[in-house]
Amino acid sequence: GDYNQKIDYVFKVVLIGDSAVGKTQLLARFSRNQFNVDSKATIGVEFQTKTLIIDNKTVKAQIWDTAGQERYRAVTSAYYRGAVGAMLVYDMTKRQSFDHMSRWLEELRGHADTNIVIMLIGNKCDLGTLKAVPTEDAQEFAQRENLFFMETSALESTNVETAFLTILTEIYRLI
Ligand code: GDP
Ligand code: MG
Repeated sequence: GDYNQKIDYVFKVVLIGDSAVGKTQLLARFSRNQFNVDSKATIGVEFQTKTLIIDNKTVKAQIWDTAGQERYRAVTSAYYRGAVGAMLVYDMTKRQSFDHMSRWLEELRGHADTNIVIMLIGNKCDLGTLKAVPTEDAQEFAQRENLFFMETSALESTNVETAFLTILTEIYRLI
């Protein structure tokens, strides 16, 4: 069980991005290996945790999810406080959600620590035929802004574990 385990590190990671891009389902997939087909806008739940081993250390990942505060500038500074990682999520079938990444990034950089590890996530890669954001566009943005980048599907579980493990390992590497 979890309760008598010695925790070496707690890493707070925040999920940000427009409403309906799949933040809550990415978190459900990572923390509980679940996907909820008719997920409503998140109410209440602040974060989920998952304990994992990195380099023989016990790391508790505390992943924060916005509770329907995705309107521009509605996410409070408390949400960002203490975060060592951030996942900037867009829906690859919704160009607008990608176009909004720069202002989410600006908001994040305005609130967070300067050495926060940031990963850009293009979610819903299972909907390949509806793709509205070319991979190269996202790669170029990520490279310019110095972000990690991955395309995921919370529905099909593609790259979800890899994305979280990559950001957590990088956070660990930097401490
Ligand atoms: P949030 O507002 O960013 O938290 O988005 P949700 O996680 O609530 O997801 C919004 C909608 O997108 C829901 O209908 C989900 O079922 C759907 N969704 C989330 N992730 C995926 C995915 O990877 N693929 C597909 N096809 N749908 C997804
Ligand atoms: Mg949500």
